[in-house]
Amino acid sequence: MSSETRAVESRAEAEVVELVSSLIRFDTSNTGDLATTKGERECAEWVAEQLADVGYEPEYIESGAPGRGNVFVRLPGADSSRGAMLLHGHLDVVPAEPADWSVHPFSGAVQDGYVWGRGAVDMKDMDGMMLALARQYKAEGYVPPRDLVFAFVADEEAAGAYGAQWLVDNRPDLFDGVTEAVGEVGGFSLTVPSTDGGEKRLYLVETAEKALGWMRLTATAKAGHGSFLHEDNAVTILSEAVARVGRHEFPLILTDTLEQFLQAVSEETGLPANDELIAKLGSIGRIVGATVRDTANPTMLSAGYKANVIPQTAHATIDCRWLPGRKDAFLAEIDRLLGPDVQREWIAELDDYETSFDGHLVDAMNAAILSEDPNARTVPYMLSGGTDAKAFKKLGIRCFGFAPLKLPADLDFAALFHGVDERVPVEALKFGTRVLDHFLRHC
Ligand SMILES: [Zn+2]
Repeated sequence: MSSETRAVESRAEAEVVELVSSLIRFDTSNTGDLATTKGERECAEWVAEQLADVGYEPEYIESGAPGRGNVFVRLPGADSSRGAMLLHGHLDVVPAEPADWSVHPFSGAVQDGYVWGRGAVDMKDMDGMMLALARQYKAEGYVPPRDLVFAFVADEEAAGAYGAQWLVDNRPDLFDGVTEAVGEVGGFSLTVPSTDGGEKRLYLVETAEKALGWMRLTATAKAGHGSFLHEDNAVTILSEAVARVGRHEFPLILTDTLEQFLQAVSEETGLPANDELIAKLGSIGRIVGATVRDTANPTMLSAGYKANVIPQTAHATIDCRWLPGRKDAFLAEIDRLLGPDVQREWIAELDDYETSFDGHLVDAMNAAILSEDPNARTVPYMLSGGTDAKAFKKLGIRCFGFAPLKLPADLDFAALFHGVDERVPVEALKFGTRVLDHFLRHC
């Protein structure tokens, strides 16, 4: 049934847009620095109020530092002997520069059919859908098939040390009995040309994530006067190593997830299932294209303190992302590129993730999408970045990215993540709420 033929909107559908807009109005900018990160406490307290309003007793938790606010509620299901399901959304966002935007990034403006603002797709859209459904279920006294845990967490945008990672390490009791989870980044539609000359909507369910490693490099050599002959220069040694890493192309590897993705796109479009197909996918191709090989991008450089002094050390930072199962091979290539004179250490390291696209929960996601978009198809894909799934997997929880959105075919969705004029279609939020509702009633 489409929204046009639906006689009455559900309570959740009716309030989801206002909830998302309200969430965006909290400036929860995560700078990665404890001193300047703000707003999470106020936003989490507001979420807790919305949940308490309908009869929950939400737990508010600060994860490792003052103000890093998280909210949890659990809705008991009909069969508590089945594992519980976690729905997780982060409340923090990346910063936004108002001068660059068409509307103020923390206005939550609802105009031209969109809700505008930082977090509209990453991920206050899903937070709002979760909140709307949690409120509806409690208000109606609805009992889901299994326990549902709704988690609104801090610090995802800085890898979760003061959010999901802390909660998993320090409060594992919050996740008692949880076996599966859904969160970002998946469930959105990608429109491709179909073999019959029309269009086909694919819904990308995230089943895998590359690993993340931020690597700090140090070259140490002899300090000296800038005017002398000097063959042992730390700046030169480091620069050459950084250039070798930055220009290196790692081998093409088609993981199980990517092969299934390419196979599905090939079946629908009639184009051959190879990596060249990805380039034809437009905006989404930029994400998927980064999942056919490991990457190592230099991002920071520092050395020296005076124009005529050769410093003893020079530093660089490399953003490393390797495919599931590739860590040893990746590091062997990195070490060969760095050579013997450059040392490396991790600043941050988060594991990869991959699960199969099958089983009861995948069937429930598929049925939920088809109930609202009958000619569509769900396909698995790998995210080039990371999410809080990396933390929850440590507890043995099977994670999926499933925050459903039916998007206009021409919307550059990938560009909205951390981008200027981030926004989400009003109709996509209502669609997503209906899909999630169907999914949660059959999970
Ligand atoms: Zn996110």
